[in-house]
Amino acid sequence: MLYVSTRNADEKVTASQAVLKGLAENGGLFVPEQIPALDVPMDKLKNMTYQETAYEVMKLFLTDYTEEELKNCIRNAYDTKFDTSEIAPLVNVQDAYYLELFHGATIAFKDMALSILPHLLITAARKNQVKNDIVILTATSGDTGKAALAGFAEVEGTKIIVFYPKDGVSPIQQKQMVTQKGDNTFVVGIRGNFDQAQTGVKQMFSDPVLAKEMGTTGYQFSSANSINIGRLVPQIVYYVYAYAKMLKSGAIEKGETVNVAVPTGNFGNILAAFYAKNMGVPLGKLLCASNENKVLYDFFTTGTYDKNREFILTSSPSMDILISSNLERLIYRIAGNNAHKNQELMKSLQETGAYTISGEMKEQLASFYGNYASEKETAEVIREIYQETGYIMDTHTAVAAAVYKKYQKETGDTARTVIVSTASPYKFTRSVMTAIDETYDSRPDFELVDELEVLSKVKVPQAIEEIRTAPVLHETVCEVDQMQSVVKQFLNIK
Ligand SMILES: *Cc1c(COP(=O)(O)O)cnc(C)c1O
Repeated sequence: MLYVSTRNADEKVTASQAVLKGLAENGGLFVPEQIPALDVPMDKLKNMTYQETAYEVMKLFLTDYTEEELKNCIRNAYDTKFDTSEIAPLVNVQDAYYLELFHGATIAFKDMALSILPHLLITAARKNQVKNDIVILTATSGDTGKAALAGFAEVEGTKIIVFYPKDGVSPIQQKQMVTQKGDNTFVVGIRGNFDQAQTGVKQMFSDPVLAKEMGTTGYQFSSANSINIGRLVPQIVYYVYAYAKMLKSGAIEKGETVNVAVPTGNFGNILAAFYAKNMGVPLGKLLCASNENKVLYDFFTTGTYDKNREFILTSSPSMDILISSNLERLIYRIAGNNAHKNQELMKSLQETGAYTISGEMKEQLASFYGNYASEKETAEVIREIYQETGYIMDTHTAVAAAVYKKYQKETGDTARTVIVSTASPYKFTRSVMTAIDETYDSRPDFELVDELEVLSKVKVPQAIEEIRTAPVLHETVCEVDQMQSVVKQFLNIK
């Protein structure tokens, strides 16, 4: 299987090359030439472990990795870094199934892909005779940064540089990043928002002068952002796994349709669901849940993507995004895998901040349902479900839960639904606790952590215990237009 750029039909690479490069030339994203069909029946998948399922899915996409290489990557990724051998447990609360993707090292769903990406990348470098050190350049709205740092710390032959919006992440997210150990790790706060961080990173990736300077110093860039196919592919796995486990537990009959509700930012997670559906997993509606930055809701309802609007800081910061990068992969597909057409729309996005798809393209979005939750609705759903069941979810998951309720009300659809649970409530303790009771807001962060343990009866995760006392190791802060000079300084490029 080869990967082709969404912006240039002539740029084709192998899976390992796509993983290495991250981004295609002139800003395109790599997509598989076609989406493969699952070749193992659900009856067999339902008895497989997470690791076994991962192999069956990933082997279909990463075809130039040998069986041994791939199994090695999987073994090194999904191990005791996760606090449960199920890796991605499914929890039935009321009429929904919460797919908890936060049992990895940094207690957010980014661990699902970022615990394996470093292994896929190092393997790819070896396969392609790369001699340079790989520099991972990442923009983060909070969770990617720490998960990438944790994944790449001390991995030989790599360095990782993370940019985050100084005032746009939760205190716990920030503390997690600036306390990161490892000589090959660098963390920088920028005075700007996530989109500016992401744009700055994309510019560096496509700067030929910088690439040359890097090359002569013995470095080359790669990306740990969700535009890397090495992140997208591992995310398909848990949709296959979740469906198979529902079948096994008797929650559904064979072939029964399951909807999924996904708290969405950069559109990577829900795109993986779309790929799983296209591989043959009986998924029905894909509920794309946004917070008050509801660009995607507007897009699904009107066919116009328009980022020209105020950027709102919400209690679900990992979804505070106005440019959902991975949507480009869907646009390319509904344009009939037409790189030229996609390029035109992306050019319009770059130049005017907006584009409109044709009616014909819009018709192909029928699997998607877009909606959003306000800050108030998000807090309400956390409080309600806690009061009714004792289950406490984080703010991002709550956005999806709220959208699920809206969808049910609007359509009367009674299909079984998986709500993708993307972070531990401990990662957003203050927002979660004040959603339950506003008076908690006057209490210090770690007091709230202990109180959350009492309310939820879920033990404080190791990832939180670690940062209670950890020293700050990264203090760099810069302006948006200084990002490149900061990178050069870290890498000693004159
Ligand atoms: C990254 C993230 C999201 C958004 O996922 P995308 O793949 O970018 O759409 C949602 N919730 C949490 C907690 C996240 O970290």
